[in-house]
Amino acid sequence: MRPNSLLELDRDHLIHPVTSFRGHEARGVTVLESGQGMFLRDSEGHELLDAFAGLWCVNVGYGQNSIVKAAADQMTRLPYATGYFHFGSEPAIQLAARLAELAPPGLNRVYFTLGGSDAVDSAIRYIVHYFNATGRPAKKNIIALERGYHGSTMMGSGLTGLPAFHRNFDVPRPWQHHIPSPYPYRNPLGGDPAAVIAQSVAQLKAKVAELGADSVAAFFCEPVQGSGGVIVPPPGWLTAVRDACAELDILFVADEVITGFGRTGPLFACETESVVPDLMTVAKGLTSGYAPMGAVLMSERIYAGIADGATPDLPIGHGFTYSAHPVSAAVGLEVLRLYTEGGILANGQAVAPRFKAGLEALTDHPLVGDARSAGLLGALELVADKTTKARFAPDLRLADRLAARGYANGIIFRAFGDGVIGLAPALCCNHEEMDLLLARLALTLDQVLDEPEVRRSL
Ligand code: PMP
Repeated sequence: MRPNSLLELDRDHLIHPVTSFRGHEARGVTVLESGQGMFLRDSEGHELLDAFAGLWCVNVGYGQNSIVKAAADQMTRLPYATGYFHFGSEPAIQLAARLAELAPPGLNRVYFTLGGSDAVDSAIRYIVHYFNATGRPAKKNIIALERGYHGSTMMGSGLTGLPAFHRNFDVPRPWQHHIPSPYPYRNPLGGDPAAVIAQSVAQLKAKVAELGADSVAAFFCEPVQGSGGVIVPPPGWLTAVRDACAELDILFVADEVITGFGRTGPLFACETESVVPDLMTVAKGLTSGYAPMGAVLMSERIYAGIADGATPDLPIGHGFTYSAHPVSAAVGLEVLRLYTEGGILANGQAVAPRFKAGLEALTDHPLVGDARSAGLLGALELVADKTTKARFAPDLRLADRLAARGYANGIIFRAFGDGVIGLAPALCCNHEEMDLLLARLALTLDQVLDEPEVRRSL
């Protein structure tokens, strides 16, 4: 099919996620055709270094043939098996067991979803069920962080703390509450990590006191906030909020949809501080984007509370047709093998210091106010004034300028509207590819700086 007819078909029929409908009609689609390792190729023949692993998900890189084979073998043998009526499939059982083995200790029970949003939604449903079944039905409120992202379902988008995901959607709903993000770069206490941590704990306690301790079910957070601008809390923050939740008698839920599967270094970001959440949500790197899948992992305490609760003999009415899809599970098993036996996790850890040093070096650039990273999850925050940390005016459309220049320079990253460039290269990245990524990023920054409208707004 000729690219321009594809362009027209796309404009006339395909609705794109998290995109302005009219804006997309005017701009048109960029059709991605193939991928190999760190690189994508579009329908016009451009080779693009993917510095964002698709949507921070293709952690093992493109073109991993062993995954293709695992999927094809499973699809040939049995493309679908329901999990209803006590049925199951071998890869789903094996993957649940493998995840339980690899996850923080005690998270032994796994419910598979299709992605991250429905993992968050499922976690919320199980939490509601748990407190109802264990005789504390008043515990319904959930607290999350401003600038957090927890998906696009009605519940997940309400827990999300980003106005762009609330606008016109009538969320947050009752039960959904927010406390400020630790955000060291924009926190007046940012220079004092202990003070940032103490502040978050105090804010959580104050919110619980305001809502009434008996009415709060859980606190959800990302160990590193991704879509809110790659906000890396100070070391010790995760432990402190986890401990506060235990003290407050509320469940602690770690949303590791982005941070899981080596993105920040270890297999799960919680491992960095040996934090064990009550529930954990994962997706993205679980299958590395080769097939859709997410999961909720829960402790035995939650599982037993639901299992032995008010109506132990009746079905627990939560399920998707594609829960524990066998093809996705077969993909997940092979992806986990690649991280561990295939050396991809270790490779990501080896290249991460180069990434960190490269981003930090870019703080000398006139546009860059902050560089931050955890493993291969990183960001540059661009500011119009480094002293006041003033953001660029929205009508400058800095994100569009960055994305357009990046594309022309053969690099894809996430340009957020508030001037943050999000980066999440695949964990298979080698040193030369990392240097190329950093060079193309620097060139892009130089070119954007040279645009007269940008210069004038400095
Ligand atoms: N939680 C977090 C932390 C995420 O980053 C995302 C997706 N970016 C989600 C949930 C939702 O996942 P999905 O897009 O797979 O539904």
